[in-house]
Amino acid sequence: METYKKIIEDIYLELKNVDDIGKVANYIPELGNVNDKNFGIHITTIDKNSFGIGDHEKKFSIQSISKILSLTLAYKLEGEALWDRVDVEPSGNPFNSLQQLESDKGIPRNPFINAGAIVISDILVGHFKNPKEDFLSFCKGISNNPTLNYSEKVAQSEKKTGFRNKALCNFIKSFGNIKNDTEKVLDFYFHMCSLRMSCKDLSEIFLYLADDNFLCQKGKRILTESQAKRINAIMLTCGFYDESGEFAFRVGLPGKSGVGGGIVAIHPDKFCITVWSPKLNVKGNSYKGMLFLEKFTSKTESSIF
Ligand code: GLN
Repeated sequence: METYKKIIEDIYLELKNVDDIGKVANYIPELGNVNDKNFGIHITTIDKNSFGIGDHEKKFSIQSISKILSLTLAYKLEGEALWDRVDVEPSGNPFNSLQQLESDKGIPRNPFINAGAIVISDILVGHFKNPKEDFLSFCKGISNNPTLNYSEKVAQSEKKTGFRNKALCNFIKSFGNIKNDTEKVLDFYFHMCSLRMSCKDLSEIFLYLADDNFLCQKGKRILTESQAKRINAIMLTCGFYDESGEFAFRVGLPGKSGVGGGIVAIHPDKFCITVWSPKLNVKGNSYKGMLFLEKFTSKTESSIF
């Protein structure tokens, strides 16, 4: 941990005042209210050592990072049958694209683009009586964190302006790959994306993807080894939409971004690290987050390659 700590401190100081690049997401109006100077990092290793710096304990809107958690729960419930409803191929398209759905007959390319995450939301809505409550308690139970919650403000703000997601959901339903009422599915999706967590919360909750022996609060495994391998593989190939190749190329770890400016990255068998900086590049990924992780894996020689 001492080596990681020193390197994290050095890169943090080097990048702290670099803030002239990128733009905070404001297509969901409530996200635009965040202070764009926020910058935090937190790492948790599989032997439960941890270190954080900067705004690592401030909660923010995790947005698409939540798609890992909904995928995890749906995978647990459905097993391999899940892949009949959503594919595992990189889309090479923006996260909110409708384009490939027509030729793919309503089967989204992967569970991390919005189309795929909406199908996953449909699966969870069909499974639970109170999907929002049950999903939240699943998340709280993983790392024994009772402080997790949705932001009703962010969820309502996206509900008012999320015309593209509404279009995606209706379009997929026209192919028969949404089984439940679209209003219910979208309400779940918007709430899931509005989850608030800090870098510390995130690097603790996703340890189950780094540690084969991770047990949740109740002493149970979250995923089998094979399932964890598969989710890591989808993160590596699809976690950054049409910038997934670039993230693998520069950082070399499975990861997932969100338009709130967070990035989670996993080193299987070593650690989970999270960076938060709200200014995004044109592909919707945190500019400084990517830069930080590129420097971190280079200096610590800890990419998976
Ligand atoms: N809620 C956001 C949306 O659907 C999530 C996108 C993201 O974080 N990439 O647009």
